[in-house]
Amino acid sequence: SGSVRHFKLVLLGDTAVGKSCLVVRFVRDEFFEFQEPTIGAAFLTQSVQLDSSVVKFEIWDTAGQERYRSLAPMYYRGASAAIVVFDLSNKESYNGAKSWVKELMRRGDPNVVIALAGNKADLPASQRKVETEEAQAYAEENNILYLETSAKNASNVKNLFVEIAKKLPQQ
Ligand code: GDP
Ligand code: MG
Repeated sequence: SGSVRHFKLVLLGDTAVGKSCLVVRFVRDEFFEFQEPTIGAAFLTQSVQLDSSVVKFEIWDTAGQERYRSLAPMYYRGASAAIVVFDLSNKESYNGAKSWVKELMRRGDPNVVIALAGNKADLPASQRKVETEEAQAYAEENNILYLETSAKNASNVKNLFVEIAKKLPQQ
């Protein structure tokens, strides 16, 4: 019930961190071990119900490949929200995520709601390369959300979008 508010949301992050899988999990509640690579960007929509309103996300899933990086501003321009994804088992992807956050803060919308997602939380602890405390501290310093997600087992995926929806302007 209530009004429906529309927001553009963009996913950013290095290749193979699970951006497309997170979107497919959120939008269709499916997971594919061999998710086909994104070319350029894909567009999907999905809504979340809050207490008194519905937030409808217009989601741009970008390709994170370096060669497309120059196109990123096209996708994050005008975005109300951004999910910057890294793979918890890949330290380099965490460094990449931090550089995406920096770029968004410098060149994105001044009020963009940013969520950092440490994905592949289902992997065994022995494969983890980024500690929760480290990413959490970074997120707090930069006043952004941090959640650990798994597109594979669905944990925290809906919650990620709900937490973003709660931070979006009420108007
Ligand atoms: P993208 O390039 O960031 O869009 O990454 P994809 O969504 O295409 O996923 C890349 C690879 O990571 C695929 O082989 C997925 O099956 C795998 N993957 C994605 N999310 C998860 C996850 O939460 N857990 C695990 N274990 N693998 C995942
Ligand atoms: Mg992809």
